[in-house]
Order: sequence, then C-alpha cells, then structure tokens
Amino acid sequence: MESFDLIVIGSGPAGEKGAAQAAYFGKRVVLIECRAELGGAGINTGTVPSKTLRESALYFSGLRQRGLYGIDYSLREGLTVAGFMHRKDAVVAAERVKIAENLSAHKVELISGAAHFEDAHTVSATDQHGAVRALRGEVILIATGSKPHRPPEIPFDDKFIFDSDSILTMERIPKSMVVVGGGVIGCEYASIFTAMGVAVTLVDGRDRLLPFLDLEISALLRERLASLGLTFFFQERPKLTERTATGIRMTFASGKNVEAETVLFAAGRRGAVEGLALEKAGLGINPRGHIDVNEHYQTSVRNIYAAGDVIGFPALASTSMEQGRVAMCHAFGFPYKQRLASQLPMGIYTIPEISAVGETEESCREKKIEFAVGRAKYANNARGQIIGDFAGLLKLIFRRDNKQLLGVQILGESATELIHLGMAVLEAEGTIDTFIELVFNYPTLSEMYKYAAYDGLGNLAGHKLREG
Ligand SMILES: Cc1cc2nc3c(=O)[nH]c(=O)nc-3n(C[C@H](O)[C@H](O)[C@H](O)COP(=O)(O)OP(=O)(O)OC[C@H]3O[C@@H](n4cnc5c(N)ncnc54)[C@H](O)[C@@H]3O)c2cc1C
Repeated sequence: MESFDLIVIGSGPAGEKGAAQAAYFGKRVVLIECRAELGGAGINTGTVPSKTLRESALYFSGLRQRGLYGIDYSLREGLTVAGFMHRKDAVVAAERVKIAENLSAHKVELISGAAHFEDAHTVSATDQHGAVRALRGEVILIATGSKPHRPPEIPFDDKFIFDSDSILTMERIPKSMVVVGGGVIGCEYASIFTAMGVAVTLVDGRDRLLPFLDLEISALLRERLASLGLTFFFQERPKLTERTATGIRMTFASGKNVEAETVLFAAGRRGAVEGLALEKAGLGINPRGHIDVNEHYQTSVRNIYAAGDVIGFPALASTSMEQGRVAMCHAFGFPYKQRLASQLPMGIYTIPEISAVGETEESCREKKIEFAVGRAKYANNARGQIIGDFAGLLKLIFRRDNKQLLGVQILGESATELIHLGMAVLEAEGTIDTFIELVFNYPTLSEMYKYAAYDGLGNLAGHKLREG
C-alpha cells in the first residue's frame, strides 16, 4: 500500500487549497476526486458558474448601462441557453485548468475515483471501472463539500423542476419561474433570471430576505428586486407541486398557488458524506448532516481533518479555501496560518450586489452595544453618478464611545470589492477616523467610506455635517 503524508478527499476550494498548502511545505500529498472535473461546486456548479451567469445576464439585459445613454441595449430577445451559457462554460473551463496546473505545480498526485475509509489511516479510491486503490495517509483531509437538499415532496425532474446544480443543465430559458428559497442562492438566481426577462416569483417561509443581513440592507434589496420585476411570496411553504399542461402549479400551505413554466428549488444544502464510510474511521455526522470539527478543523479522530461545506456554516468558497489551509498548518505544525481571520466577509451577488462584514444594527442591539451609524449614498458620490448607480448605500456601524468600527454593509455596484477596505480596518480594530484621515482616489466609490464616516460623526454630534 502506498503511503502519503496527506490524503485529501475532494478537489473543491477546501481540498485544492489544503492540498497545495501541505505540498508547498514539502509534504507528499495525494488528492482523490470522484467527478471527471476538478474544482467541486466552487468551479463547476456553484460560485463561478452563477457569478458568470450574472455577468451574462447584466450584459444581455443591457442592465449594466442602466438606460444611461437613452439606448435599449437589451439583447435578450431570441437568446438561446447556449448563448447565455457560453461565457460560463469558457470561464469554468479556464478555472479547471488553473486548478490542475496548481496541483501539478505543487506535485500533488491526483487520483480519479470515489474515496471511502477503510480505517482512520486508510482510504480506498474506486475508479469508474471498479478498480480499487488503497492508500495510507498520516493525515486525511475530508473536503467533500455539499449537495442540494432535495425534499421528497418536491418532484424534481431536472426538466421543469430544478435544484441549484441541475439549473445549469436547463435546455431553454423559460418565460416564468418559481424560485423556492430566499437565501443567498435563491436570491442570486432570482435576480439573474429576472434580469433575463423571466417572470420570477420568489417564495420563502420567512418574512424577509436574507435575515442575517442588516434590516435596512435587506429591505433595500427587496425594494430593488421588486423594481427589477420580481414578485414575492413571504411566509409561504410549498405543499403540493404538480405538473400542468404548460408547466408547474405550486400550492402553498396557506392554500394560495402560483403557476410557472419552471421551478428552481434552492432551499438548503447538506454535507456530501454518502459512500465515505465515515464509521470505519470512527467518525459520524451531527444532526444537521455535517462533520463536527474543533477550531483547528480537526475531527474527533486526531489525524482526520474536515473543511469546507462538509462542516457546515458559513459554506462559502472563500472560507472553505482558508479552512483547508488553516487545517493543514495545524495538522503538520507549520508556523503559519494558525486560525481563520476573525472577520469574514459575506458576498451576495444579487442585482444589485451586497457585501457585509461585522455587526449589523440588530446584532448590536442584541449584544447591547451602544452604536451609531454613518451612511453614504451612491447617488451622492461622483463615481456613483458616472456609473448610474443611484440606489446604492454604504453603511458604517461603529461604537458610540470610541468610534471603533463594528460593521460595514454595502448594497450597490462593486460592493463585494469595496467591502475589503472596511474589513481591513475592522480586523485592525480601527476607528471611523481612519477613513477621514485617508486620501481616496477621486472619483471612486471607495470615497464613500470617508463621507459615511463624516455622516457618522454628524449623527454622533446630533447634527448632519453633510449627506452622502
Ligand atoms: C449556486 C451557488 C453559488 C455560490 N456562490 C458563492 C459565492 O459567490 N461565493 C462563495 O464564496 N461561495 C459560493 N458558493 C459556495 C461555494 O461554492 C462552496 O462553499 C464551496 O464550493 C465549498 O467548497 P468545498 O471544497 O467544501 O466543496 P465542493 O466545492 O463541493 O467540492 C467537493 C468536491 O469533493 C468531491 N467529492 C465528494 N465526495 C467524494 C468522494 N467520496 N470521493 C472523492 N471525491 C469526492 C466532489 O466531487 C467535489 O468535487 C456558492 C454555492 C452555490 C451552490
């Protein structure tokens, strides 16, 4: 049996970066992947495809120009799925190559096959022809990701009723769609399809979108999505989903119903652990279907680590990569990344996009933190005017007593890029004065940090210095 310092199961963000981290410091690493393609959900079915489709939707709908030039740039009439998916396919293919090159550059051996445990140090990989190869690893990293939740009462057929993976295989762009799930994935796809001219109805059991967001930002998102043409059904749960002559009828627990050509069910994902035979390694899953780990991403079996979606929240590509690296630094005692950064950004690629880090107004109230708020509107910013984003908002939340930054919430163009400046100040435990002291390029959206800080000072002093 061949021996390795590290066996990695899964080539998604957590597996790839964990493998590269260990190999970088000279460890002998093998990575097992059961799919034909490398990259997991991050590259093939989740992050990268959906973000590229968003760009395609902005392009084909002409929304990026926002009607600024008085010309209708919409190209979506007669657009085929192949046309819509073209860029997505190109970007996904390029990203797969990058992963293969990264693993090869780090001399990570790649094995194609489904992995399962024989014991805490032995993993077998069964290839597509049934051939089995047993490997021994000093350390094992489980990075098998997650799968869409498919509740039995929803009759998925991947032709009319899709999950967030199979939606990428749809054969035509429908005229109407019900999206079930007002979480990140549901809201992102609902905005993409609405931008493409599909009549989308978003259904969620709760009474607001993305409840973990600051209420003001969540409400603003709802307003923007409604103005894009999205219809909402809140506090509704699907009870019966049936085929009709033209598509689907979904009846809710309340008795109301909605008809559409297609349904996208995007309410929840669960850890991908089937077939791993975790019990042979002395491991199990928690009631939420995830593997429990400590702060070093170590499972209850000391030499086995787990990272990424398979351990649950926050289940993002960004955090999965870093968890994989941190786990391997701990496993091999590298004097390097000892922990995940304390501030984790959240990027939500709706139209408009959102990003947030740190506290919200609601979380401050819950924690009884005395806080104040400073806002800057995109409409009052020169770059905001130039690009025609008149609805965006950047919001700073800070301590009343010493002006220490507590949180940043942004809705608008480039929010997911803009957030990083706020995140750096937050991580350094800086105050909003930092933004006032800095000189920003002009005209830029980043400059809004300065004016949000001025607004915050005005609010603290009880008078407005300047809006925006
Ligand atoms: C629609 C959508 C949009 C998203 N958008 C974003 C975003 O904008 N930003 C963001 O940060 N995150 C986003 N995410 C989340 C992100 O994709 C995941 O958090 C990330 O891919 C998890 O990485 P991972 O390495 O844990 O697992 P995965 O990427 O799921 O990779 C797991 C890999 O393990 C393999 N595997 C599983 N079982 C076995 C086995 N037994 N043997 C061998 N191989 C196995 C799988 O085939 C897969 O390749 C999105 C997800 C979805 C679904």
